[in-house]
Amino acid sequence: MKKTIAIYPGTFDPVTNGHLDIIERASGIFDKVIVAVAVNQSKKPIFTQEERKEMITNVTSDIENVEADLFEGLLVRYAEKKRATVIIRGLRAISDFEYEFQMSLTNRKLSPAINTIFLMPNEKYSFLNSSIVRELASYDADVKEFVPAYVLEKLKKKFRSN
Ligand code: ADP
Repeated sequence: MKKTIAIYPGTFDPVTNGHLDIIERASGIFDKVIVAVAVNQSKKPIFTQEERKEMITNVTSDIENVEADLFEGLLVRYAEKKRATVIIRGLRAISDFEYEFQMSLTNRKLSPAINTIFLMPNEKYSFLNSSIVRELASYDADVKEFVPAYVLEKLKKKFRSN
């Protein structure tokens, strides 16, 4: 039987409870979910690509059909290589829509057989993004409601060592 493989791409600097909410939903729908960490140097991530991947591997270890990977270059080429037919993106609010709409139609032009599917997180995560988490953590504010415990420790270490 054909298995449906979905790619969930992003920067994940770091992975948050909002991302995890999307990963859990996707894992219930698709046979396999690959969380693909982009290099994204333009966003100047605070965690290396390897660190970002390792945090995802750790916080999804109890979800059997989820794995983390690294990619660079065109997302659709990576998806084709992995035999994925679905790209997952999270939609939090209308403000996400325009950018996501443009990306999804561009990706469809590049690879018509791959569909982007949008999932909405629980509303309690609809305001949350990695940059808010980074900023709060940099001021030593408590972010334990926003990230898994493992990520919380990594953030503490990162900002302590800076
Ligand atoms: P990117 O740089 O590709 O936007 P992010 O790591 O910021 O990478 O986000 C990856 C994906 O996860 C995007 O589709 C984004 O909309 C989604 N996302 C980010 N935060 C949340 C959240 N709190 N709830 C649901 N989806 C989210």
